[in-house]
Amino acid sequence: DAIDTQTLKRKLADAGVKYAIASYVDIHGISKGKFVPIAHLGQMMEGSELYTGAALDGVPQDISDDEVAAMPDADGVAICPWNRQLAWFPGNLYLNGEPFEACSRNIFRRQLQMAAEMGYRFNLGIETEFFLFRDTGDGGFAPVSDRDTAGKPCYDPRAMMDNLAIMDELVEAMNELGWDVYSFDHEDANGQFETDFRYADGLTMADRFVFFRMMANEIARKHGAFASFMPKPFADRTGSGAHYNMSLADRSTGENLFEPRGDDAHACGISRLAYHFIAGVLKHAGAISAVIAPTVNSYKRLVRQGSMSGSTWAPVFQCFGSNNRTNMIRIPGVGGRIECRAADIACNPYLGSAMMLAAGLEGIREQLDAGAPHHENMYNYSDAEIAGLGIDYLPRNLGEAVEAFEADPLSRAVFGDAMFDSFVAYKRGEWESYQNHVSTWEVERYLKMF
Ligand code: GLU
Ligand code: MG
Ligand code: MG
Repeated sequence: DAIDTQTLKRKLADAGVKYAIASYVDIHGISKGKFVPIAHLGQMMEGSELYTGAALDGVPQDISDDEVAAMPDADGVAICPWNRQLAWFPGNLYLNGEPFEACSRNIFRRQLQMAAEMGYRFNLGIETEFFLFRDTGDGGFAPVSDRDTAGKPCYDPRAMMDNLAIMDELVEAMNELGWDVYSFDHEDANGQFETDFRYADGLTMADRFVFFRMMANEIARKHGAFASFMPKPFADRTGSGAHYNMSLADRSTGENLFEPRGDDAHACGISRLAYHFIAGVLKHAGAISAVIAPTVNSYKRLVRQGSMSGSTWAPVFQCFGSNNRTNMIRIPGVGGRIECRAADIACNPYLGSAMMLAAGLEGIREQLDAGAPHHENMYNYSDAEIAGLGIDYLPRNLGEAVEAFEADPLSRAVFGDAMFDSFVAYKRGEWESYQNHVSTWEVERYLKMF
């Protein structure tokens, strides 16, 4: 209300903030928004910032439609640590005074509301893997450090030390925002890093994820580099995942309901509730993939081979199991949570969370059976063995994923008609554009072959 906004305005002004950003996200989960001088914060908090439909990349609004309004959420405000003149507000879109159905954040909030009605709070931690590169001037890119070009860079302190100016500023910024980073490391590919920070309620985590990609880029730029959230920039290196660590808590007591109690323990030391949640996610794994692995390039990450360490650590099949990185859903064994490993860093976190939560809740409601857990290395199975076990592949390209998304009634139920149609059209177009492209690989292989 007005008093709160006044207090907030004073707090921000005292902290030196000059401009507020009334953010919303496009279909990719990329932050967009107008800058509002702090004197006008009151208006902004009441939805003064209007956006024309044509600017909502991929979202079903046309230039001739009414504008949508961003309603900033004061709970998610973040003073930008790389430029404290700016305060970023995540927002929900409204159309003619009603929540806009095709807003990613509203789509997730609808599922959070369903969870709340069932008595649950959705907790989420997303691990952020990404690349730090510099432009090489000839249109190419390379890792920042000359010591980060070959070898086995996984957990390499030297390559980390060479990137520490960026990583230190990033981690300090995350902690300034109260995210509580507990470790960061050099990942398995050249120029690849990961930051891990404490889980939060789902909406807070999704807001942070959107902000993280923007912040990592802004900080890297200050150091003459850039952050890349392309899932798989190198064919022969690991890609960048965004593992979703999920659990449900009792809404009133806060108790973690994925932690087994008494004789309730189910497969791999999780509760029966968590097991049903997994079953729901597996049932809808194809449709979910289109949302959590949303690019053409995403599917080049979801393979077994092609990294210096021999494997990619990314899932290939629709299966779950214990502490085993070849499963789509891993149960780490501690922390009463499940980890979906299929998601990548290019995802829209609101849409990805909405799909997974909706699928998990269906699994609980319908007491679905997830089958048997897999403790073995799934990469070692042949296609025939996988088929014999009754396990399906994850979609093998964006085209297959979009087909699975379109065929699954859950997708339309979660997205709403307009966003469903829009997402299918957008992603199908993306796939067709890729298919119509003739690559260097093809020319090299076939031009003089016959
Ligand atoms: N980078 C791997 C992926 O693509 C995951 C590595 C890990 O387990 O941290 O998902
Ligand atoms: Mg990792
Ligand atoms: Mg992980």
